Amino acid sequence: MKIDDQPIPDLPTRVMTGTPVSPGIALGIAYVHETGGLSVIEYCVAPEKVAAELERFRTAVRHVAQELKTIAEEARGLPEQAAEEISYILDAHAHMLRRSRLTRGVETLIAEKGINAEAAVKRQIDELVAAFAAMEDLYLAARADDVRDLGQRLVRRLGHEEATAFADLPRQTIILADELTPADTAQMDPHRIAGFATELGGVASHTAIMARSLGIPAVVGVAGLTKALAPGCTVIVDGTHGRVILNPTPDQMEEYRKGRAAALRRARVLHRLRGLPAVTRDGRRVTLMANIERPEETNAAVIAGAEGIGLFRSEFLYMNRDTLPSADEQYETLKAVVERMDGHPVTFRTLDVGGDKLTRLFDLGTAPNPAMGLRAVRLSLARPELLRAQFAAAIRAAVHGPVRVLLPMIGSVGELRECRAHFREVYEELRRRGVKMPETPPPLGVMIEVPGAALCADALAREAGFLSIGTNDLTQYTLAIDRSDEQVAHLYDGMHPAVLRLIHFTAEAARRARVPVSVCGEVAGDPRFTGLLVGMGMAELSMAPANLPLVKDAVRHMLAPAAEELAIQVMRRADVLDVRRLVADFNGESI
Ligand code: PEP
Ligand code: MG
Repeated sequence: MKIDDQPIPDLPTRVMTGTPVSPGIALGIAYVHETGGLSVIEYCVAPEKVAAELERFRTAVRHVAQELKTIAEEARGLPEQAAEEISYILDAHAHMLRRSRLTRGVETLIAEKGINAEAAVKRQIDELVAAFAAMEDLYLAARADDVRDLGQRLVRRLGHEEATAFADLPRQTIILADELTPADTAQMDPHRIAGFATELGGVASHTAIMARSLGIPAVVGVAGLTKALAPGCTVIVDGTHGRVILNPTPDQMEEYRKGRAAALRRARVLHRLRGLPAVTRDGRRVTLMANIERPEETNAAVIAGAEGIGLFRSEFLYMNRDTLPSADEQYETLKAVVERMDGHPVTFRTLDVGGDKLTRLFDLGTAPNPAMGLRAVRLSLARPELLRAQFAAAIRAAVHGPVRVLLPMIGSVGELRECRAHFREVYEELRRRGVKMPETPPPLGVMIEVPGAALCADALAREAGFLSIGTNDLTQYTLAIDRSDEQVAHLYDGMHPAVLRLIHFTAEAARRARVPVSVCGEVAGDPRFTGLLVGMGMAELSMAPANLPLVKDAVRHMLAPAAEELAIQVMRRADVLDVRRLVADFNGESI
C-alpha cells in the first residue's frame, strides 16, 4: 500500500496520547472506523470465497432471528406494557430479517462488490438509517434506531463467527478500534498489521502482551480516539511514547520515519548480543527465556537467543475456534515447540482462560467478577477432563525434550495437591497403555500470581517442582487494579513496594526450599527491573522475545553484589517514590 505524504486536506492533523504498550513506530492506513455506531473492517473477499461469504451472512441472519425469538420468549415474563412494547420492536426486527431491503441489499453488495459481510451490513444499514432519518414523520424517523440496533446485532454475530477477518487486510494496515480482545489480537499478522491503537485497555492486558509478543507497535487507552477517526487516513502509532497521530503532516511523517530507522539500528546493535551469555560483569549467570502465546512465536524466541520457553500460554490454543483442542492436537503442537527449542526447556502452562482472556468455548461471561471467578486452574479443576488432556499432551511431549508443566492462578496448597493427583493418574494411565513417555514425569510447578499464594510460597515451594512469579496478575490483585482498565492504568505499578515484597518473600521461600524460581510477568522483560530481580536472587527470567536483548544488555552491565545491595535497600522502603529513586540510581537513569 502506498502511503501518501500529503495529509487529507480537510481533515485536521490530530496528535492523541494514550498508554504505550508495545514499542516501535508504525506508519500506515487506518482500517477501523468507529462512529458510535457500527465498527467494522472492510476488506475484499476473493471471488472464489464470495459464495461462502454469502452463506456466512445467511447463517448470521438465522442466528439473529433465533436470538430475537429467545428474547421475545424471555420478555413475556415482563410487566404487560413493557412486554407489549418489546414484542413490537422485536417483531419489527424479525420482519427486517426476512427477505427485506436490508438482507437483499447486503447480499447484493457481497455478491457484486465482493466485500465482506460485516462491511456490506454496515453500508446497507447506513443507507437505510439515512433514509429513515430523512423522513418527515417523526415516528418513522425514529425507526432509524431499530435499523441501527439490528445492524449491530448482525455485525456482532458475524464477528463471533469470523476468525480470520484480519487475515485479508492489506499490508501496512493500522487497526484503530474502541477495544480489541486478546483473541482479536492473536489473529493479527505482523506482516500486514503495522500497528494498532484502541480507546480502551491497560498496559498489562493480554491484548497489550500479545502486541509485544508479535512486535506490533501499539497504544491503548487513547481517549476520544473513536470519535476522531476518518477512514483511510494515514496514521502514525508511536508505541514507545504512547502517541497516535491522525493525518500527520509531511514533517511529522519525516520525523517518525527517522525515529523508526534509528530504532531499527538500535535493534540491530542489540541483536549482536544474541550469541553471548546473559552473565553479570562478575560472572553471575542468568537464564533468559521467552514467553509465547502461539507456537509460531517459537521462531522469534530462537532468533532472540532464548534459552527456553519460560511460559507457553496454552489458552491461546483455545481461541478463535469452535471445538476444544484434543489431547492429541495439543501434543502435536507442543512437540513441535519442544523440537524447535532443541533441548532447551519448554514450560507449558495449563489453560488460563478468564478475566480478559475469553474464548467462545467457555461461557464465563455472567460471573459477577470474572477476574476473580471460575477461571484458570479453578475452571480446570471444575472440568478435570480439560486438565487431564493437557497433562497427557505435556507428558507425551516430554519424550522429545525437557518440558515443565505450570499451573496458573494457584491459590492454595490444596489446589496444587488436587492437580498433582490428576497429574499422577494421567501419568500412570499413559504408562499402563504403553504410550511412549519419559522415565520420570515432567516437573509440575505453580504460578505465584495471587497474593495469597505469594504469602504461602513457603508451603507451595515444599510441594511444587518450581515457582514462576506472574507479576501481571500479582500486581492486579495486590493493588486491586484491573490490569486492562485504562481508567486506572496510571495506578498499575509493578514497582509498588507491596508487589516487590511479595516477590521477595516468594524468592526467599524458594531459596530455602531449594526449588527453582523465576519471573514470567511483564516486569521480567523490562530492563529497569532487571537489577532488582537479579538482586532478589532470580536466576531465570522469561519475557517477550523482543525484550530479550534489552534485558541481556542490562544483565551484562551489572555487578551481582550491587544488585543484591539494591534489593536490600528497596526492601527497606515502603514509598514507591523512594523505590523508583533507588532503582533509577542503579540503572544510571533519572526519574
Ligand atoms: C502474569 O499474570 O504475570 C502472567 C505471566 O500470566 P498472564 O499474563 O498470562 O496472566
Ligand atoms: Mg496471570
